[in-house]
Amino acid sequence: MLKRLVAFDTTSRNSNLELIHYIQDYLDGHGVKSTLVPNEQGTKANLFASIGPDREGGIVLSGHTDVVPVDGQPWTSDPWDLTEKDDGNLYGRGTCDMKGFVAACLSHVTAFQRARLRVPMHLAFSYDEEIGCLGAHSLAERLVGAVPRPQAVIVGEPTMMGVVNAQNAGGGIVATFTGIEAHSSMTHLGVSAIHFAGDFIHWLNELQVELAQRKRTDIDTVPGHTTINVGIVTGGTAGNILARECTLNWGYRTLPGDDPWEVQRRAEKYVAELLLPKMRAKHPDANITLRRRSFLPALNPEENVEASLARPAMDRRQPHLCRALRHRGRHLPRPWHSDGDLRAGRHRAGPSAQRVRRQIADGRLAATLSSLSGAACAGRATAYQHDADRRQAQTAFLPKSLVRRKGRTGERQ
Ligand SMILES: [Zn+2]
Repeated sequence: MLKRLVAFDTTSRNSNLELIHYIQDYLDGHGVKSTLVPNEQGTKANLFASIGPDREGGIVLSGHTDVVPVDGQPWTSDPWDLTEKDDGNLYGRGTCDMKGFVAACLSHVTAFQRARLRVPMHLAFSYDEEIGCLGAHSLAERLVGAVPRPQAVIVGEPTMMGVVNAQNAGGGIVATFTGIEAHSSMTHLGVSAIHFAGDFIHWLNELQVELAQRKRTDIDTVPGHTTINVGIVTGGTAGNILARECTLNWGYRTLPGDDPWEVQRRAEKYVAELLLPKMRAKHPDANITLRRRSFLPALNPEENVEASLARPAMDRRQPHLCRALRHRGRHLPRPWHSDGDLRAGRHRAGPSAQRVRRQIADGRLAATLSSLSGAACAGRATAYQHDADRRQAQTAFLPKSLVRRKGRTGERQ
C-alpha cells in the first residue's frame, strides 16, 4: 500500500486526484463508502469515510495526501519509488510525512470492520497540508455536518511517537513589491522592487529577534516563541535592470494563547507607515501589497480525558503515545514506530528525512495503529461516556503523531 501511495507524485503543486481515486476504489473494494470534498477548481479533493456504527464518540484518523517537493534535493534513489536500503529503512518522498500513516490506516480497514466497534472510526485525508492546510478547512466543515461528533482526532504526523497536544497558529502571506524598471546605471530613474523587498526581509529578521525575547516556558512547544520565515523569493529579470517586481512568500507561527494576528498587523503597519512611503518617495507608482495566503488557528492544550490519557507519557519525558495508551488500557498493543521526526528536519534534503522502517510495508504499523485505535475506540472511549468530563472531551485534540522509529532492527515492537 505504501509503495503504491508513494508512487503518486502528490507534490502540493500537483493534483492529488489519482491518489484519492485510488483510495476511494480501495475503500469501495472493501464495501466502505467514502465522500470526496473537492476544491473549487475540481483539481484536488479531500476524502472521508466511516467504519463502524453511526454514532457519536468515534475517533478520526487524519492525514494529508500531499508532499513537499523533491526539487534540487540530493536523492540517491527515485523518491517516487519506495526503495528498501541496506539499513532496513524504506526510502521515498512522503513515507513518513505522511503517506506511511495513511497506508497504515487503509491497510487495516478490514480489521476495523471485523472489530465490531462500538463507536466509529473515521478516516479523513486532506490535500494541500504542506502549503497551509488549505484542504483541511473544507474537510472539517463537511465532517461536522456529515458524521456524528467524534471524541478525538489522531493526526499521524511524524513526531517520533511524541505526544503533541498543542500546535502553533500559522499564517502565510505573499508580499508583492512593484517597482519601476530602469537600467542599473540609472538607479535614480527607477525603484528596485528587490531592494525594498530586502528592507522588508531585514525588518522581519529584526521582528523575529524581538519576538524571540518573549520565549514562553509555560507551554511545551519548540522553540517556544513566535517564528518567522521567508520561504520563497522571486523577482527581477536581469542583473543590469532594476527589478520591477519581487514577491516574498513568507509566514509565521505563533504560540497557542498568543495573538495570532500580531505579526500580520505589525507588517501591515510597517509597510503602510514606513516602507511604502519610502518607496513612493522615489516614484509614486511603486507599490507593496500583502495578501494572506493561509491561516491556521492554534490548538490549545486542553484538560480532558484524552489529555489525561497522554499525560503519563509526557511526564516521563519519553513521550510515546502507545505506551501511554497501553498504560491506561491493558489490552492495547505494543508500540509501533516509523522513522521521521517533525522536530528533526523532516523537510530537509530528501532521503534522510524521508525514510520509514520496513515493518510499515509488512502492515504491522497498520495492525498496531488500528488495533490501538480500535481498542481505544471500542473499550476506552465507551468507558468515558459516563465520565463527567465527557462533554469537554468532545473537543479534545489528541496527539499529533503515531509513528516513531525504534532502535534495533528486527526487534519485536
Ligand atoms: Zn505532514
